[in-house]
Amino acid sequence: MKIALIAHNQKKPDMIGLCIKYKDALEGHELFATGTTGKLVSNATDLKIKCMKSGPLGGDQQIGSMIADSQLDLVIFLRDPLTAQPHEPDVNALLRLCDVTNTPLATNLSSAHIMLDAIRLGAFVSHVKDIDKD
Ligand code: PGA
Repeated sequence: MKIALIAHNQKKPDMIGLCIKYKDALEGHELFATGTTGKLVSNATDLKIKCMKSGPLGGDQQIGSMIADSQLDLVIFLRDPLTAQPHEPDVNALLRLCDVTNTPLATNLSSAHIMLDAIRLGAFVSHVKDIDKD
């Protein structure tokens, strides 16, 4: 599966903790991330991650382009709802594209746990490409 990881600055510690906890579930999948999130997570876990540009410099749009092509099976985007982001339009576009393409999206830790538990149990079946063809 192809999984994207993105975390706003205040949520990066949560993302690192999440990826340490679920390293076994994430290993063996193709991982993508915005620049800073990817670097921090790979330093903390040794997971192999393809890092895009940093979010505010276009990384969200790069991930968004993969979502538009239905290339991602899961997006974990730990958003900070309490801080204004300079690249808010890019964030909104990415979230919107997940809905356009029916791409599973976790925007908080609780949802991310549920998705990663499902992957760990082998119960996460991606329907992204099937639905896109309809
Ligand atoms: P970053 O980008 O991982 O490069 O910090 C995340 C974001 O703010 O969209």
